[in-house]
Amino acid sequence: MSALAIVDAGAATHTGNVRRTNEDSHLLAPPLFMVADGVGGARAGELASRMCAEAFAAADLDSGAGEQVLREAARAANRAIHERARTDGEAAGMGTTVVAALFDGRAGAAFAHVGDSRIYLLREGLLQRLSEDHSLVSELVQSGRLTEAEAERHPQRNVVTRVLGTEPDVVVDTFTIDLRASDLVLLCSDGLNTMVAETRIAELLAAEGTAQTAARRLVQAARQGGGEDNVTAVVFRVGSPVADRAAGGAEPAAEPQPPPPQRRRLGGRIRLAAAGVCLTGLVCAGVVGWLASNFVGADPATGRVAIYRGLPFDLPLGIHLYQLRYESPVAYALLPPARRVRLFDQRLRSSSGAYALLAALEREYP
Ligand code: CA
Repeated sequence: MSALAIVDAGAATHTGNVRRTNEDSHLLAPPLFMVADGVGGARAGELASRMCAEAFAAADLDSGAGEQVLREAARAANRAIHERARTDGEAAGMGTTVVAALFDGRAGAAFAHVGDSRIYLLREGLLQRLSEDHSLVSELVQSGRLTEAEAERHPQRNVVTRVLGTEPDVVVDTFTIDLRASDLVLLCSDGLNTMVAETRIAELLAAEGTAQTAARRLVQAARQGGGEDNVTAVVFRVGSPVADRAAGGAEPAAEPQPPPPQRRRLGGRIRLAAAGVCLTGLVCAGVVGWLASNFVGADPATGRVAIYRGLPFDLPLGIHLYQLRYESPVAYALLPPARRVRLFDQRLRSSSGAYALLAALEREYP
């Protein structure tokens, strides 16, 4: 096999249309790439993701095999963030996701991830997701309780079950794959994949242009799709160093092209119509179910198990069919995955049933 190389790479990030600060950080340092999505109050999320980027930037890339280098960098980031969160009151409870790639022309590319940021591979026009989210909805999908489509609009799709910084040590998922000439790899924060469908991500990655152009287009699409969260995309292309120069790997950057306006308006109308249909059906169900219905979930803001009144659905346009009723002192990250899946099964419960369930949980996890 002839040696491959990174022939093109680029990155783009944006605060989005709603948030006030950008808590994402990234690293574009071929052969090393990283995206981190920070969480935490005040400016702690920004700090956590920046500390993660610093830990990766300081990694010794020759200290071992690719996966080992990435795992050690993630664990070093975890220790640094956890220590800071423990000793600095303003940073208490902060954490960050991470996705990282380390390319080696002979051995392929090593990847590491923690949380719900994602790794995608575009090969011959086909987009594959290489990472499994460490999130509540992902656990529910894997256990068969939710479909992928239901997970996309689930009220608790933001609840991450594993991040760097909240515990003294962390389990880091790593893997290595062989890359081929013309493969494109995308690392992104969830501000991209929650706003842009994977079919559209594939189209934008496959379109003409440099990796930088692709990253900019993806971020722009996330903003056009609502931009409800910070969004970051890091893209790199693999090729044979000589052939790819001629094939367009190093062409000049073009301005990002917005999708055709007609298509965008149509998409908006379809979404609005779908919202209308959902709304009519769910309002009927809601009127019957609202007062009697409760479900057990997790509050993404505090990381604690909670009881919600209402129905476990979000509608388009930011309409919630539920409200927080009671928050338990039990942190959902403490519960084993199988237990979380049973607890967060989205069954509608009576008020007394929901409270009894949490009372038992609180006795078990005092
Ligand atoms: Ca995010």
